[in-house]
Amino acid sequence: MTVSTTRAPGPPAATTDPGRHPAAATGFNLRGLTKRFDLGRKSVLALEQTDLGTRKDTFLSLLGPSGCGKSTILRILAGLETPTDGQALVNGRTTRELQRGHELGVAFQDSALLPWRTVAQNIRLPLEVAGVRPEPGLVEDLIGLVGLTGFEKAKPAQLSGGMRQRVSIARCLVVQPSVMLLDEPFGALDDMTRQRLNVELLRIWTEKPATTLMVTHGIGEAIFLSDVVAVMSPRPGRVVEVVEIDLPRPRTPEMMRTPEFHAYHDRLSEILFGGGRVGAQGSGEDH
Ligand code: ADP
Ligand code: MG
Repeated sequence: MTVSTTRAPGPPAATTDPGRHPAAATGFNLRGLTKRFDLGRKSVLALEQTDLGTRKDTFLSLLGPSGCGKSTILRILAGLETPTDGQALVNGRTTRELQRGHELGVAFQDSALLPWRTVAQNIRLPLEVAGVRPEPGLVEDLIGLVGLTGFEKAKPAQLSGGMRQRVSIARCLVVQPSVMLLDEPFGALDDMTRQRLNVELLRIWTEKPATTLMVTHGIGEAIFLSDVVAVMSPRPGRVVEVVEIDLPRPRTPEMMRTPEFHAYHDRLSEILFGGGRVGAQGSGEDH
């Protein structure tokens, strides 16, 4: 298993060997994470003994072929699936502990808003579920942060796809999370909207840093946003390589045209598509 960093001296921001990570108690910490789905007489091995460690407040992107288990990792971290084996901790804590402290913010590809509630009411929902009163002005601030001032009372059907995703990002932020999990949050949008929202997500994350995992198909988006990009093998998935993105912050869209950016793009493309390191798609099925 290869661990690669582009930053030579000092401790790595990420590794596929979390046990050796100097700050194993913080950031994402997956150890031997395994998930098998039972489907009647068949079962699917979605994740096999995957390891990963990052530092606190790292923006981590997960790249990999379709069906390799990216969403499964995110769903385990979000407490929506239980691992068959191994463990997943974030900042030294289990999902349950994070949820109890209302520290976990999650957003999915489908904004999953409640159609009968307004923008403001949708954003407030996680606090209502938790029985917590929002701080005065918090919801209004978040609406401003995601650029939806004036749409507080609009219903989801009155919004564009990009605006609905902004609502779902604001809803993720309303608990003021220390950990954010984003599953292809802009995956269903056109390139221009997606790029604009990436810039906004970056601004928000810079203002309110959180230990963040984003699942994405977009190599450019992963480089632009992340401190660390983890690349997964086809199913049964495991993290095969981590690449530290050593571009300066604040990041700007202009950086996407620099030789450094292109070099990261080439490298990640090669890991994903070239060289045969990731290998052919395994069936991962046991009959
Ligand atoms: P990705 O997000 O990388 O595209 P997923 O994590 O969604 O992949 O899925 C990984 C594998 O696990 C796929 O083969 C998928 O069909 C299977 N899988 C995911 N969720 C379930 C489930 N609830 N029941 C059965 N199989 C599942
Ligand atoms: Mg997925």
